[in-house]
Amino acid sequence: MKTKKLDLLEMSLEDMIKAFEELGFEAYRARQVYKWLYSGQLDFEEMSNLPKDMRKILTDNFINGGLTVTNRLVSKIDGTRKYLFELSDGNIIESVLMKYHYGYSVCLSTQVGCRMGCTFCASAPLGLVRNLTVGEMLGQILSILNDIGERIGHVVLMGIGEPFDNYDNVLAFLRRISREDTLNISYRKMTVSTCGIVPRILDFADEGIPVNLSVSLHAPNDGIRQQTMPVARRWSFDELIQACIKYSEITSRRVTYEYALIKNVNDAKEHAKILADRLKGTLCHVNLIPVNTVEGTNFDKSSKQRIKEFKHVLEKSKIPVTVRRELGSDIMAACGQLRRNTLIDNGKV
Ligand code: SAH
Repeated sequence: MKTKKLDLLEMSLEDMIKAFEELGFEAYRARQVYKWLYSGQLDFEEMSNLPKDMRKILTDNFINGGLTVTNRLVSKIDGTRKYLFELSDGNIIESVLMKYHYGYSVCLSTQVGCRMGCTFCASAPLGLVRNLTVGEMLGQILSILNDIGERIGHVVLMGIGEPFDNYDNVLAFLRRISREDTLNISYRKMTVSTCGIVPRILDFADEGIPVNLSVSLHAPNDGIRQQTMPVARRWSFDELIQACIKYSEITSRRVTYEYALIKNVNDAKEHAKILADRLKGTLCHVNLIPVNTVEGTNFDKSSKQRIKEFKHVLEKSKIPVTVRRELGSDIMAACGQLRRNTLIDNGKV
């Protein structure tokens, strides 16, 4: 039986040097490859300072994340790029590249699917297949880096999956990309988005890394939250907010609350008032998102007027609030939609 190829993106530089030495290559060769990988070049054949026979031996022994871009859509409206990747076991995930005035930001997936079951989400009905490895998370950002050839300064883990349901790999990934000899991305420019797994929020606060925390709140109280997010039945609204306050106290970072406005579910002025009362005095920011309609669910976007009114109530209470700009609306850039539609097209759902 053929042994499974090792993934170089799973390894530290020290591990790579060991693996290279076992194949009879000197340490500096591992350093050369390491440099290529973190500049976005994942194809051994393109590593021009390596001898040809060495490239072949490396290809026979290692993979670099094992991702293949199977589809790439570029928005004609704003240049947002959506990537569909096939993993080495045939599963598919997606990532998005967005351009802001402060530079490029990538939104990455952390799992194949998700088991959190939020009723408005495109990934929920498909369930969880498995966690992504560190190599597969790195593979997404490095492939995108290779595609654009420009620095990526911001990373958000807001693609498919629940990052805190894959805690160890996510943490190792964030630590890796922060290193000066890899992507040198500051923790302050990384964001982890969670549906609210309270114990992991508290663990994350203690890791000593000032990463931004984004919490998918989507409701002003337990009653409404429990209707759309099963995780709310496990941890109460209060427990969640308390954990977020603790997070901001320990890390000194402002917590962002994501609030997808769903017509006639959570978008009344009354809801905004309750929300404002709950968040008053905490170091927070509310990001309002007109919900993306997902086929097969019966949720509709709130009207522009309702969103404006909701925002106004929060502003009156001095809660920092923005309405999320919709990027890439012509390329299914919203989380999970491309994977979902591809699986449907391929008859896998
Ligand atoms: N599991 C994590 C991160 C992935 S989901 C989390 O829950 O935060 C990324 C974000 O998209 C979350 O805020 C999620 O609630 C939101 N989302 C999911 N489906 C959506 C939809 N149909 N419209 C708007 N936002 C949605």
